[in-house]
Amino acid sequence: MNVDGQAAVVTGGGSGLGAAVVRRLSATGARVALLDLDLGAVERIADDIGGLPIKCNVADEDDVANALAAAREHHGPARICVNCAGIGSAMRIVGRDGPMPLSIFRREIEVNLIGTFSVMRLAVADMAGLKPLAETDERGIVVNTASIAAYEGQIGQAPYAASKAGIVGLTLEAAREFGSLGVRVMTIAPGLFSTPMWNGTPDEIYENFGKQMVFPKRMGRPEEFARLVDHIIDNPMLNGEVIRLDGALRMPAR
Ligand code: NAD
Repeated sequence: MNVDGQAAVVTGGGSGLGAAVVRRLSATGARVALLDLDLGAVERIADDIGGLPIKCNVADEDDVANALAAAREHHGPARICVNCAGIGSAMRIVGRDGPMPLSIFRREIEVNLIGTFSVMRLAVADMAGLKPLAETDERGIVVNTASIAAYEGQIGQAPYAASKAGIVGLTLEAAREFGSLGVRVMTIAPGLFSTPMWNGTPDEIYENFGKQMVFPKRMGRPEEFARLVDHIIDNPMLNGEVIRLDGALRMPAR
């Protein structure tokens, strides 16, 4: 799909990978709605690129419906939906203080997995009402963000790994279901990317991240994630697949 002139919605657009996607989509001619819990962050980026900032908690059903309605009203129904909003935590299932509170597990599933599903289902319902594009016969595309933790969850990542594995599992089913609409669904599973998600990580752990990589021996850059999103949108044969973007990193148990 040619991005130029299309409406797009990007969740988690206020920071890190989502912000890089917003900047790239906007630079290639999309009208972008930035959905994020952090309104100040999306307002700052939207000011730069002329996008539409919307405060939205992806784990809240009404918030998502209202945010997509606001985006539709300003830009028309979006053909491009990129889900980047996500959270992580570090806690053992059974730690020194006893079993993990269910609320922690539930929260990550709600934001990462149900949030992604919630935005995708409403975005695709909008796409279904659009005419297929002449050049590719497509109505739209959804790009979701999982993690290599979906395959190699480290100790302490149970809710995160489970939520991201859910996104991986959803990918082929959704692509099959939406095939008759001409809507593609793809997922990217990033390795380690240098974003504010790691703020607060002790220096010695953060510095070790780059050394774990096979090649390149550094963390990924958000622009490199955005380049893959751009290629996925452009290449109509990419559908129903999860692409690892990880410099050949395979995470150890801890
Ligand atoms: P980030 O913390 O820089 O950005 C995440 C954004 O999501 C923030 O702007 C935050 O406000 C927003 N957000 C959080 N909860 C939300 C909610 N309930 N509703 C709406 N917005 C919400 O993180 P990032 O590194 O850019 O991560 C983006 C995605 O990539 C996440 O899904 C993350 O799990 C995934 N990921 C990141 C890495 C990495 O190394 N950075 C690796 C693998 C996967």
